[in-house]
Amino acid sequence: MRQIMVAANWKMNGLSADAVHLTRAILDAGLDPTHPEVVIFPPYTLLHVVAQEAKASALRWGGQNLFWEPSGAFTGEISGAMLRDLGCRYVLVGHSERRQIFAESDADVARKLKAAQVAGLIPVVCVGETEQERLAGETEAVLQRQMKHILPYVGIGAQPGLVIAYEPIWAIGTGQTASPEEAQQVHAFLRGLVAGQSEALASRLMILYGGSVKGNNAAALFAQADIDGGLVGGASLQAGEFLQICRAAEANGRGG
Ligand code: PEP
Repeated sequence: MRQIMVAANWKMNGLSADAVHLTRAILDAGLDPTHPEVVIFPPYTLLHVVAQEAKASALRWGGQNLFWEPSGAFTGEISGAMLRDLGCRYVLVGHSERRQIFAESDADVARKLKAAQVAGLIPVVCVGETEQERLAGETEAVLQRQMKHILPYVGIGAQPGLVIAYEPIWAIGTGQTASPEEAQQVHAFLRGLVAGQSEALASRLMILYGGSVKGNNAAALFAQADIDGGLVGGASLQAGEFLQICRAAEANGRGG
């Protein structure tokens, strides 16, 4: 059975004291250490703070981005090896804010996926359609295009080498969540694309939902057969709200 994961994307928010407060709140909540897998994606500047707080626990952390080259004259960039050096297990790749604001292409996403895996990181790769694409009935075509660049990296042998996060862009930070049924339909579609390559891989692949996940909608989303947890933005900055989401995952029967 697939594990369930709750991931916190802090985006460009927080100073050291906030990182200590939020990390300690999660550690002190006494969550089951094996279920769910809880991962924090702080800004780079706070990775060492989270690592220091969480190093003796089951809590994991990761970078919000990486560059595909291993080192060199790339001012302002961070490599996979640098993230590993800070104890990261995961890295976000292709978040819609990276795709839209920083013009990351599908090809860039693929290069980053490869670099992350070479560095020994598990990429959490984001896909999702805009409001306009959704209204034009293009959701599946957009996802298919994005997934075409991701599929070569989905498996490392028989094991998934990454996690997918379905994040409809119209739901990110808007308070407008996909209904559990709508999200389930898309997750099943995404899993089906992977099944075209390998049924075994598809059944083991974790697919998270992201887009205004809150304490009051998490349980219904996580109850769907193909939703394996959540990638949480805004609500991950409020300890109480984030813990409510973690509790919803903990109460879910799968994984562990
Ligand atoms: C995100 O940024 O990945 C996200 C899902 O944000 P929010 O939960 O705020 O919609």
